[in-house]
Amino acid sequence: VRRWNHTPAIPALSPVTEQDVAHFAKFLAPTSIFSTLGPNPIPISELSPYNNDWMGKYHGKATTVVKPKTTEEVSKIVKHCCERRIGIVPQGGNTGLVGGSVPIGNELILNLGSMSKVRSFDPVSGILVADAGCILQSLTDYVAPHNHIMPLDLGAKGSCQIGGNVATNAGGLRLLRYGSLHGSVLGLEVVLPDGTILDQLTTLRKDNTGYDLKQLFIGAEGTLGVITGVSLLTPPSPQASNNVILALPSFDNVLPLYKTVKQQLSEILSAFEFIDRTAYDLAVKHGQGRGLHDDEIEGAECFVLVETSGGRREHDEQKLNDLLENLLTSDEPLINTGVLSQNPAQFSSLWALREGVTEAVSKEGKAYKYDISVPLSTFKDVVDLTREHLKSKGLLHEKGVKHVIGYGHVGDGNLHLNVVADAYTLEIQNALEPFIYELVASHKGSVSAEHGIGAMKTHALHYSKSGVSIEWMKKLKQLFDPHGIMNPGKVLEMP
Ligand code: FAD
Repeated sequence: VRRWNHTPAIPALSPVTEQDVAHFAKFLAPTSIFSTLGPNPIPISELSPYNNDWMGKYHGKATTVVKPKTTEEVSKIVKHCCERRIGIVPQGGNTGLVGGSVPIGNELILNLGSMSKVRSFDPVSGILVADAGCILQSLTDYVAPHNHIMPLDLGAKGSCQIGGNVATNAGGLRLLRYGSLHGSVLGLEVVLPDGTILDQLTTLRKDNTGYDLKQLFIGAEGTLGVITGVSLLTPPSPQASNNVILALPSFDNVLPLYKTVKQQLSEILSAFEFIDRTAYDLAVKHGQGRGLHDDEIEGAECFVLVETSGGRREHDEQKLNDLLENLLTSDEPLINTGVLSQNPAQFSSLWALREGVTEAVSKEGKAYKYDISVPLSTFKDVVDLTREHLKSKGLLHEKGVKHVIGYGHVGDGNLHLNVVADAYTLEIQNALEPFIYELVASHKGSVSAEHGIGAMKTHALHYSKSGVSIEWMKKLKQLFDPHGIMNPGKVLEMP
């Protein structure tokens, strides 16, 4: 019987005991151990921020959370857990959206939040080396005075950690411009599942010395080891950034619009984000950014947020104004209207409309989140077909389903298809799966564009990966983690 959250099976591992907690206390500060066991027990409720995920969908039963301060401490914890066969869940900011960051049972939570130092920054090369527990926003603030930016940006930046970003290979809002973390991460320091420290914290741009092991940990979601340090290339800050929100009468215009925008803005285009009308209305309803005027949204089926980042303000503004003029005066206009931000506050407010959709959805209800890659031309079909399907099952606007929305990183072919309901139920879950995964597979898409597999999609991996790929993933897992202690039940199903 499948449960609504597909709780995967995990190997039989040992629970954390009082003796284990006493062992950790030999080398960890008392402030680094939070446990319902041992000499200083705390109530289980105090562990709830670690045991429950951001969506309130996945719930672990860990009795103990450790927050080491150094790589050596992480190594000692992992070595002990390996010997005792205790499952470990590496945890960053716990903002993951696929249930990967909380235990399935009572595994030990190894939270990186106390490893938050910048180790070095070279303002000439832009190479930053930081502890894995540094919060993305604090790294952004750290490099800003040196005229650099982080190569990634996402709505969870105030809580997510760089180690978590690397572990999930987070995409986000700048991927179109700066590429994925597989390109910008130069080196990693990782504690392997037996406690060995793998030091690959290189700051070299070029290093063709055989297998590039670090790539295996990028996107492994903590199943192959604990990332403790990250070296990455940060780009120089753009001298000028502008954005404009475009209201479109029909989704059919999105693709031709993207083509036109790419051609006309060329090197200064840095984001092309899509929000359908329902997603926009939810963002406004829940106070994410300032909405447009009524006459600006009248007749709009969807919206596109375009951002430019370049070297000279006048040049970029000229290009953006020319684009808008061309769009509005063409014989068959692709847009109804466009609102250009005029100052930094408006710039942030327009971004808040797009970035705030995730937050707005969580305020509106419980979200069934499908983060998929499909051809751009099918974005609307996928949303419409899902809506129709729920309707045919008698679930839409009845039995708790409130909205079916689509938004996402159009420029990267990544659609966030969200079904917002009153509650997580087996009936809705069964209506959505495998329906959506089969739809994605029929377009040769990916069941996870950027959020990962976690606990949510282990059973769906085969829709996007061949049998041979999965077999070799399992062999790799077995090689790195023969006892299956590292984030058990995530990414791969148990054999
Ligand atoms: P966690 O949630 O703590 O962990 C995520 C996974 O990584 C888990 O499997 C965990 O075991 C593993 N992990 C964490 N730290 C380590 C480590 N040091 N070593 C090994 N494994 C580790 N994601 C995107 O890709 N793009 C977006 O645009 C985006 N927007 C978001 C917006 C909001 C409002 C929210 C809540 C989430 C969003 N996410 C997005 C999802 C999430 O923020 C990212 O996946 C993020 O990278 C997770 O980082 P974290 O530190 O919170 O990791």
